[in-house]
Amino acid sequence: MYTIPKGTKDVLCEDAYKWHYVENAARQTAANFGFKEIRTPVFEHTELFLRGVGETTDIVTKEMYTFLDKGDRSITLKPEGTAGVARAFVGGVQQNGTLPYKMYYITPVFRYERPQAGRLREHHQFGVELYGSSSPLADVEVIALAKSLFDALGLKDLTLNINSIGCQECRAKYNAALKEYLGSRFSEMCRECQSRFEKNPLRILDCKDENCKKITADAPKVLDFLCDECKAHFEGLKAGLDAVGIEYKVNPQIVRGLDYYTKTVFEFVSNAIGAQGTVCGGGRYDKLVEEVGGKPTPAVGFGMGLERLLIVLESQGLLEKAPKENVDYYLASIGENALNFTLKLANKLRQKGKSVEFDLMSKSVKAQMKYANKIEAKYVIVVGDDEILSGKVRVKDMASGNEEEIEIKDL
Ligand code: ATP
Ligand code: MG
Repeated sequence: MYTIPKGTKDVLCEDAYKWHYVENAARQTAANFGFKEIRTPVFEHTELFLRGVGETTDIVTKEMYTFLDKGDRSITLKPEGTAGVARAFVGGVQQNGTLPYKMYYITPVFRYERPQAGRLREHHQFGVELYGSSSPLADVEVIALAKSLFDALGLKDLTLNINSIGCQECRAKYNAALKEYLGSRFSEMCRECQSRFEKNPLRILDCKDENCKKITADAPKVLDFLCDECKAHFEGLKAGLDAVGIEYKVNPQIVRGLDYYTKTVFEFVSNAIGAQGTVCGGGRYDKLVEEVGGKPTPAVGFGMGLERLLIVLESQGLLEKAPKENVDYYLASIGENALNFTLKLANKLRQKGKSVEFDLMSKSVKAQMKYANKIEAKYVIVVGDDEILSGKVRVKDMASGNEEEIEIKDL
């Protein structure tokens, strides 16, 4: 027997309907906001992620699945969705596309992480990307889209945290202040934060180490260092969220992973699933398109972890609403003659758009009924010689137990 690779999961047939439910809701919500699907490859040239995710991020320094292909090219499995989209935008859309360009994706994502609840080596993300607008209303649109999906699924307990990490100018001033504050406590920080100290001190705020969290709790706040333009953008974001009635908390600790984030960063967090509570993270990355070789283009988006979303939905009993995709009809048969008959009847019903199963295992009628129960068929029809002769069958509604006699030609 082979075992499944660590940190990966199968979705078995019994559970696929939950995924369809969430994915369909995501697609519908994206469509409601005028976002269209973009599909990019599962692997890209490694350099794309070095530039498009940022060389000092956890994702790039520790988590990428990178290998040489048979042509000696360095290839990496998608560790997030945005970089590939940015590459596709620059290569295929930017020349003559109309802006704003609004995209969504549903994709597997690969990260070499220590597996735990809500943290996998292959997970899936629903993400959106809005390219071309520098208006804070674009940030509001993207946040409202996520919120609208949560609402459609009935989720209530999610907190929206927002922050601004400014532009490169405000960031330089802030990083200097942060280094000054943290300098005296350098030796107390975890080794990773010590290495972040020179390269990207802002990211120390994102550390999950309890001790580092204590150290940064009273650190200077990035919001106090914003330039006028970034400040106005953040005010515009808050005003927009107020206008559409989306509640939020300003949380100056949020900085997020990508090196190219500018201005807005946000997270939707659930308290229902413990440590891995961040279901959705996003923000603005006005420098990214340039970074991967395109014309300067402002951009904003988010990535939402679907496994985590499903965990939260399950914990709140909200997957009860998901349609189970059970078959409409199970055609039980008594004898060979009847089996041949059900074969043809199944064909006819399927042509009318009904889903139908019949016996493929030469089961007894009793065993066929047991199977029909197990697969939760909506209706069961038992066909024997009598039914074939009379041209009438009894259709049993499995939910109510009611039976109705119907002419086969009227089915
Ligand atoms: P975390 O801080 O939890 O590691 P992250 O900052 O690495 O998250 P992003 O890169 O922003 O996360 O990814 C977007 C979303 O994808 C996350 O908010 C989360 O819901 C989900 N996600 C990220 N990594 C994993 C993983 N290893 N397993 C399952 N879901 C994940
Ligand atoms: Mg991570």
